Amino acid sequence: MTKTLKRLDLIFKNEGDSEAILEKTLSRNNEDIISDLIASGLKGRGGAGFPTGLKWRLTGEVEADQKYVICNADEGEPGTFKDREILSSVPHKVLTGMAVCGRIIGATKGFIYLRNEYKFLVPKLRTALDDFHLIMDKLNLDFRVDIFMGSGAYICGEESALFESMEGKRGEPRNKPPYPTNYGYNGKPTVINNVETLAHTYSIFKYGAEKFRDLGVKDSRGSKVFSVSGDTPIPGIYELEFGMTLQRFVDDFGDGDAKAVQVGGAAGFCVPRKRFEKTIIGYQGKLTGVSLPTGGSMMIFNSSRSMYNVLHNYLEFFVEESCGQCTPCRVGTQQLLMGVEAVKRGDKSSDYLNKLLELSEIMRQTAKCGLGQSVANSFSSIVENFKEEMIY
Ligand code: SF4
Repeated sequence: MTKTLKRLDLIFKNEGDSEAILEKTLSRNNEDIISDLIASGLKGRGGAGFPTGLKWRLTGEVEADQKYVICNADEGEPGTFKDREILSSVPHKVLTGMAVCGRIIGATKGFIYLRNEYKFLVPKLRTALDDFHLIMDKLNLDFRVDIFMGSGAYICGEESALFESMEGKRGEPRNKPPYPTNYGYNGKPTVINNVETLAHTYSIFKYGAEKFRDLGVKDSRGSKVFSVSGDTPIPGIYELEFGMTLQRFVDDFGDGDAKAVQVGGAAGFCVPRKRFEKTIIGYQGKLTGVSLPTGGSMMIFNSSRSMYNVLHNYLEFFVEESCGQCTPCRVGTQQLLMGVEAVKRGDKSSDYLNKLLELSEIMRQTAKCGLGQSVANSFSSIVENFKEEMIY
């Protein structure tokens, strides 16, 4: 009998010792702190997976009169709700990570960019900020954090669209490069990290890089907070080690009848049952099997679900949330939606799905930002694996 996956409690353990952790960490020099972060193997937990220590180092190396630290709390990926819980239960961990980052890169100002739908968190965050600023004064640290409210657009989770929206412009992604390390909020070097990433830095400061690195597998170190939803008897938020197979995950969280798992929300991949054993949850790298990174959303679908309805729902979401700036995404999302509807109605033959798959690949290659590029992930993985459910 297989053992249950170990549930961890690193993130949500309410240790409440920010002042001591800050004092201890900031007594070290910047390079030692960064070396520890790099040695820990911590990568961004929003989904993109950029090494956190390297991001801090690169931003610290740029000369500028002002720099910023931004916590990306625009958690809008369908099926993802773990950052809300982290901010609600252990905001001091996130703020501690921001303060250390500020000292390292030379920033005196930070922001939490909070998803508008999470405005109920504001009173709690304000209390946490008051406590945090008292600690900043006590330690003689010139660093202040404000809350910036988003306006409810999914695209503003994309870092450059987030900066645009903070600057009072339409939330549209910028061309890259330049990257935020050089040109972020207000055109200044900016570190932007996901809520969970910052909370993990606290564990690394407190327990050391080795303890974090001991968790997970090569290329995918540490723990990850997952939002588990769909056909599961135990929906919720779980902190697990990276590197599990999807089969192990489904054995623990499924209802015994899982036919697919959507890993990484609407922008992620739909994995059918026959691939559970070969799919590993972690960043791409030297893992055996297909490794799938995820911002944390794990949606389980059992055999009662229509995968056509699932795909239709994702496409409606993308049509709604496309910022409309570039043609492949603005027009492509609508064509994909109308296309699958036409095939399902019988107005187009099943061969038309191949044309739609080609279109989704073109979007992957030509759309300006991750939103348009990632539509092909869910589209192709659902259409290819559940073709019989797409046709009339
Ligand atoms: Fe906007 Fe979509 Fe183009 Fe991204 S890919 S810039 S969301 S239209």
